[in-house]
Amino acid sequence: MSIAVPVGRFAPSPTGPLHFGSLVAALGSCLEARARGGRWLVRMEDVDEPRCPPGVGSGILRTLEACGFEWDGPVLVQSTRGDRYREALETLKAAGRVYPCACTRRELADSALAPDGAHVYPGTCRHGVPEGRVARSWRLRVDAGAVCFNDAIQGRISQDLEREAGDFVLLRADGYFAYQLAVVVDDADQGVTQVVRGADLLDSTPRQIFLQRCLGLAVPTHAHLPVALNADGEKLSKQTLAPAIDERTVVPVMVDALAFLGQSPPPELRRAATADFWRWARANWEMSRVPRARGLSI
Ligand code: GLU
Repeated sequence: MSIAVPVGRFAPSPTGPLHFGSLVAALGSCLEARARGGRWLVRMEDVDEPRCPPGVGSGILRTLEACGFEWDGPVLVQSTRGDRYREALETLKAAGRVYPCACTRRELADSALAPDGAHVYPGTCRHGVPEGRVARSWRLRVDAGAVCFNDAIQGRISQDLEREAGDFVLLRADGYFAYQLAVVVDDADQGVTQVVRGADLLDSTPRQIFLQRCLGLAVPTHAHLPVALNADGEKLSKQTLAPAIDERTVVPVMVDALAFLGQSPPPELRRAATADFWRWARANWEMSRVPRARGLSI
């Protein structure tokens, strides 16, 4: 009998260079997989192609390499995976789980807001596209009732999808597949068993679990790391002008990332060689020390 090896992954959206916030997610996901003797994969989440300038993905991989990350197998690139996403959509169509929608963003502007700032779909096209309107996107029909899961860091999470998210888009009006569909199909195809990522995605997780159930896919375990916030309390990102990781001085930044994740790296580790940093980090990683917070200032 073969014993299943845990599989983790880091799945950056190549909208901008690797910064401290994305380094935290890379480090947490990698160490949690390696600490359990598992595999660790990297996936480029460029499904939203217009937001991903050319060359940014390869820059992220170069920075990861400079930091001493070693991933297993080839990097999966979402922009090459349209056929798989389409197959999943067809499966859901055949099951009567999705429906075409004619609503525009402007028409939804008055509907209630979900915790992640998106609009809760009011269900306008649920029973058919209104006469004279043209379908633009495809939505997944969600069920009433709570979707619950145990997050290894954030604890028990429960979301009433119908009330808090509503039927959500899987194929967008501009022809691109939605992140929610891509991430679920990719995690399944790559055999991912543990999702470790930033807590900004905590509110997306019930939608992904629901989608996994609709597609008959295994649900991975989840651990949502605190997100790094700047002095204004904003998530570090390209939009908030987070500085890129300087590839010439990676070890001190990785030590800061470990400390951010509640580990206790000794001060002298800042001056260590990259290989020694990794030796210490792997030997001492403990998920139970990661602070139970959705965001923390750096
Ligand atoms: N691509 C997403 C991001 O960079 C992460 C998705 C995930 O880890 O599931 O925010």
